[in-house]
Amino acid sequence: MEKKEQLYEGKAKKVFATDDENLVIVSYKDDATAFDGLKKGTIAGKGVVNNRMTNRMMQLLEKEGVPTHFVKELSERETLVKKVKIVPLEVIIRNVSAGSFSKRYGVEEGIPFDEPTIEFSYKNDDLHDPLINDYHAIALHLATREEIELIKQYAFKVNEVLKAYFLTLGVKLIDFKLEFGKTAEGTIVLADEISPDTCRFWDAKTNEKLDKDRFRRDLGGVEDAYREIFKRVSGK
Ligand code: ADP
Ligand code: UDP
Repeated sequence: MEKKEQLYEGKAKKVFATDDENLVIVSYKDDATAFDGLKKGTIAGKGVVNNRMTNRMMQLLEKEGVPTHFVKELSERETLVKKVKIVPLEVIIRNVSAGSFSKRYGVEEGIPFDEPTIEFSYKNDDLHDPLINDYHAIALHLATREEIELIKQYAFKVNEVLKAYFLTLGVKLIDFKLEFGKTAEGTIVLADEISPDTCRFWDAKTNEKLDKDRFRRDLGGVEDAYREIFKRVSGK
């Protein structure tokens, strides 16, 4: 598979064309941003952890019946994926209160919910990714009702699979963000990444944070946290 021109450079990844118009190569960087891009930094080795961890999660989810964009890991930082048109919705599932949920509703972090919650943000940097509901998304033609129902169904399935999986590693899956896309054939698949950049992971015994909150909140031990969660995922 030949890597051709760069199509896009985002905050954490680059996307390259290939000689197959339906496939792209995603390349994971060590760059980290938070707070709508206001905080910038690098996390040494993050790209490798996020690439490898995402690919493991995508393969596990495929096995459990969730279609994904994953095709083949090419190297420690690069993966071949199906090219999709990203549905411009950040799909957020929560099992335990944290982050913007705690802030918005004035509750402490760490309260487990009776059932998981779902919310959408409109992926639009100029508007700073505002919270949006199904009806608004349909009104804006971001997706159809059928696509949104499928996305919700997949997102809750992802939660069930990953929550159970991480518990076996002594990790609580607090919340996470997913992105979905549409392939050339019009199929909705899980895309983007599943990593410590996009999930909150707390050690099940100590509640120690093993994710990007260490960077966001200047808690120190950022690289160690990424290494630790990856060590558990890879069984080393
Ligand atoms: P951002 O754009 O938010 O800075 P990244 O640095 O992660 O994010 O850039 C990766 C970009 O690639 C994102 O816009 C993401 O939606 C997009 N993307 C993820 N998976 C695919 C895919 N399979 N096909 C096309 N684009 C994708
Ligand atoms: N998240 C993400 N990208 C975003 C916003 C959120 O990956 O642009 C993830 C974040 O890592 C967390 C979950 O989605 O696991 C919920 O984030 P929250 O809404 O609490 O926002 P934050 O506290 O990150 O501002």
